[in-house]
Amino acid sequence: MRGHRLRYGCALGCLMLVTLLNYGVPLVGSATIDYAVGGKTVGPGTPVLIAGLLRLLGGADYLRAHLWLAPLAMVLLSGAGGLFGYLKGWQASLASDGIARRLKNDFYDHLNHLPARYHDRADTGDLVQRCTSDVETVRQFLATQVMDIGNAIILAATALPLLLSLSVPMTLVSFALVGPITIYAYVYFRQVKHVFKEVAEAEGALTAVIQENLTGIRVVRAFARQEFERGKFAAPNARYRDRNLHLLRLMSWYWSVSDVVALSQIGLTLIVGAHWIAEGKLTVGMLFAFLAYLSIMLWPVRQMGRILTDLGKTSVALTRIREILAVPRESVSTPTPALSKAEGRVERADPPEPLTGRIVVRDLHFHHASAGLPVAGRGALNGLSFEVRPGESLAILGPSGAGKSTLMHLLLRLYDYTEGSIEFDGRELSSLPRQWVRSQIGVVMQEPFLFSKSLRDNLRLGRGDAPDHEIEAAARAASIHDTILGFEHGYGTLIGERGITLSGGQRQRVAIARAVLKRPPLLILDDAMSAIDAETESLILNALQERRGRATTLVIAHRLSTLAHADRIIVLDHGRIIQTGTHAELSTQEGLYRRLWLIQTNVETDFKTDLKPA
Ligand code: ATP
Repeated sequence: MRGHRLRYGCALGCLMLVTLLNYGVPLVGSATIDYAVGGKTVGPGTPVLIAGLLRLLGGADYLRAHLWLAPLAMVLLSGAGGLFGYLKGWQASLASDGIARRLKNDFYDHLNHLPARYHDRADTGDLVQRCTSDVETVRQFLATQVMDIGNAIILAATALPLLLSLSVPMTLVSFALVGPITIYAYVYFRQVKHVFKEVAEAEGALTAVIQENLTGIRVVRAFARQEFERGKFAAPNARYRDRNLHLLRLMSWYWSVSDVVALSQIGLTLIVGAHWIAEGKLTVGMLFAFLAYLSIMLWPVRQMGRILTDLGKTSVALTRIREILAVPRESVSTPTPALSKAEGRVERADPPEPLTGRIVVRDLHFHHASAGLPVAGRGALNGLSFEVRPGESLAILGPSGAGKSTLMHLLLRLYDYTEGSIEFDGRELSSLPRQWVRSQIGVVMQEPFLFSKSLRDNLRLGRGDAPDHEIEAAARAASIHDTILGFEHGYGTLIGERGITLSGGQRQRVAIARAVLKRPPLLILDDAMSAIDAETESLILNALQERRGRATTLVIAHRLSTLAHADRIIVLDHGRIIQTGTHAELSTQEGLYRRLWLIQTNVETDFKTDLKPA
């Protein structure tokens, strides 16, 4: 509620006025019935409040002569109560919406700073649910139930003294069942609290299934899995319905019992009141006042159940939100000194200078946390060592699962290595601020992701201030400029959900242009041309070669034509380097590279022979 307390204070002030104004209406009614119509005279036995009110209305005789004053006063009091009620709702909504907005922003920001390890295992649908539905539960609670609780507290603090000042025995009768109703509500809702959690979890599971289905909708269609998906959805959907029905049953039971008790309370007051009127112990006006006050009070008392329900729901929602907020963010920088093993000296995280592009990797081991317990030699990387000079281009080849992408993720500090070392310009990577490391690297991921905005905005992702001519130069280097000009809106063309759909190769080329535009000292292409035809690939490689020397380049690929240009090639297998050298050296050396080279060139030769006219 930080920053919104004043608004809540205003809302509570208005609420207090509403309560006071509402108290006035039964008093006017009671005074009119007993003193203006009933002919009672004001004496020592007259309650102080009634006597004061009659004085305010000109006395009992004046009121008797001007009876219209009573309904007018009641209408004015109700009208003023309505006005302050509106102000109360408005202020409370402003405050709760502000809090919910901040909570969502914090949550979203936190998600963006959680470590890659967390996102590897996180259920996206569940996270969406927590960021939307759970925050909405909290918002609703803050907008309405906080005020209801305030109302209940104000009533509890003021109604009792007021009623006692009117008639002590009648107050005892009117409150006879209020205590049991409150205790019943409290006990009941404590017991059903876990059901709210089950409903929220069932809803989260449902959202997760929908989210996964929509992400893979093409695969579902291609494999004709609609029937299977229907079945897969049916189970969590049924569970959600069951949990919800269970909750509804429990709620209906609560409301029915509370209805009976509340009506019994009114009945009891009416019967005892009528009896006492007959005996002359109570006036009709007083019974009218007590019945009116009961109707004002019983509603919030019965609402206590709903408030407690919502309190339960809100506390579950808050717990679910807090569970995510409690996950530690990936550290922005590592201020602790890191030991540079090679030189045996301690380095501190001074503000780093721009990277020259020298990378030294020594005996690097890495094991994915979600891949079970670490087993020596069975990690994603098992003792990797190599060096790259500034401006050099290094190609990395290896079978699927060899650890190529893992190496790239470590260089980006998406994961932290625990064994071995990576040095950027002689500084241990783990001692360098993550943001800075990422600002120095232009990367094209294996499955490039483009945002649903214009091509220009997508290209500018790494350098928001890039001028148009540089954007075009980068697009030319990635051989996508002409394609973009072919679109109706050129660089302003919207892509993704709100615009056109790019082909796989086009997406990769936009991603390459995006990385090149960043002008990073280190460029990493992770299988970035797998969907690009050989001719276009060769154009891109030529353009990148022209830029060679400006950036250190790491190229990961399976197609040897992509790698052959590189200054040096390393071949990885099972997280280890098994070969290293230039294309000329490796293609004559026995080993995996030569085998792949022969396969790929033979395929090409066979293909060319087949195409030759007979
Ligand atoms: P490809 O050529 O198919 O892209 P790669 O050489 O890039 O393969 P990596 O993605 O680095 O291979 O994977 C290396 C190993 O680490 C594989 O055995 C893979 O199953 C495992 N791995 C990769 N990412 C994770 C992860 N997030 N959690 C657990 N294991 C992972």
